[in-house]
Amino acid sequence: MKTVYGPVPSWRFGRSLGIDPVCRFREKVCSFDCIYCQLGRTKHKIIRRKKFVSATRIENDLKEALKRAEADIITFSGSSEPTLAANLGEIIERIRKISDLPIALLTNASLLHRKDVRKELAQLDVVATTLDAPNQKLFEKISRPHKSITFTSLLNGILKFRKEYKGKLALQMMFTKENADYAGEMAKIAERIKPDEIQLNTPLRPSPVKPLSPKEMEKIKKKFRKFSVISVYDAKKVRAKPLDLHETEARRPEKR
Ligand code: SF4
Repeated sequence: MKTVYGPVPSWRFGRSLGIDPVCRFREKVCSFDCIYCQLGRTKHKIIRRKKFVSATRIENDLKEALKRAEADIITFSGSSEPTLAANLGEIIERIRKISDLPIALLTNASLLHRKDVRKELAQLDVVATTLDAPNQKLFEKISRPHKSITFTSLLNGILKFRKEYKGKLALQMMFTKENADYAGEMAKIAERIKPDEIQLNTPLRPSPVKPLSPKEMEKIKKKFRKFSVISVYDAKKVRAKPLDLHETEARRPEKR
């Protein structure tokens, strides 16, 4: 498999060329096992960082893709939590050398309590961190995290990162029937974090969990009126042509 996929049409970022620094498909690894994950159940919950693919491999795949891809942004995401890659800092440095495109990263925030991870992410233009629950009980129910991660450590990591980070910090919240009634509490937590943007999502892509309706999402949006908010139902439709459909669908399955 290649380590670069897309470009994919992202409702948040436009035409996004994906970087997958983990690239594990047969046995999914992640620090979470989110109930809505479009990649299926996590086989191995891990929290220790490790080098999955070399920075040279990613650099070569990206050089190749950049010759043909029409993209607005390069985004770390893919088949797992990208901060689990121990060589993330080196990969970011290599990308900066070969491309002027802005770089974003989507994270579940499980490793933001670590200073080395926050330092590496500080180099990025955009970081979108997920927060799907307002307390430990719901966090366990929705994110099914590695046993060493608590809601408090997750939130403290995000708060620390917010203080240090100079780029654009987006807070992504995935709403389903599990947390739909907690939007008010989530908004209060968001007030402490002070993100530059709130991204309200519901699983419109293939997922084991049903999405909320536009009406339900509109009700949730009202709780976030103090913020700059984008919601998946309101987002402008973007077109993007992936270089390789197979590589892209492995990370981003489509509804048939
Ligand atoms: S953090 Fe992302 S990759 Fe990991 S289980 Fe949740 S949705 Fe899936």
